[in-house]
Amino acid sequence: MSATRNSPNASSDIDDQTDHADRPSREEAEAAVRVLIRWAGDDPAREGLVDTPSRVIRSYEEFFAGYAQDPREILARTFSEVQGYDEMIVLKDIRFESYCEHHMVPIIGRAHVAYLPRERVVGISKLARLVDAFAKRLQIQEKMTAQIADTLEEVLQPLGVGVILEANHQCMSTRGVHKAGASMVTSRMLGTFRDDPSTRREFLSIVGHSSGFSVSNS
Ligand SMILES: [Zn+2]
Repeated sequence: MSATRNSPNASSDIDDQTDHADRPSREEAEAAVRVLIRWAGDDPAREGLVDTPSRVIRSYEEFFAGYAQDPREILARTFSEVQGYDEMIVLKDIRFESYCEHHMVPIIGRAHVAYLPRERVVGISKLARLVDAFAKRLQIQEKMTAQIADTLEEVLQPLGVGVILEANHQCMSTRGVHKAGASMVTSRMLGTFRDDPSTRREFLSIVGHSSGFSVSNS
């Protein structure tokens, strides 16, 4: 099997990273957590809370690990020897945890990612890593959906790309309107997934069957 590295195109607005020179120190970040604890009405010096700021900052390193990842690099290693395989490749029910950029609370959901290869395919786990690279940031679901699809299109240059995200937003379930059961569905269809109804239908039916998730034909 042969593998090559694609040379990613010039950058689009896929990246959200800020200049790391501006990054506050860990001590500054922990101090900010103590301020928020006091703002909430508690005492950061009491026993149960003493180590909380350092725990919160360690959690943040996990929650926001996506800023340290280059999504194009994840897809850079591709394979061309696919025995003539020219059908849709779908990875469905990819659980993700993201964070609403308006309220900084979790968005928990599933992603379904598909593409129709032109010549090159990528290791299937890379699709899950691609989702995480964008999920582990401050996000809105619409933007995350577009970023996943656009990166796949840009790096793999397939015949088509389909991405569907369905998620529960804790900013809606635990505050505000308090609607716990509602889930938000977003999608982005590119190339054949946009232009060819039968391709889109195949994707929707593959995705819909196991997850109990249905999308009206539009
Ligand atoms: Zn929110």
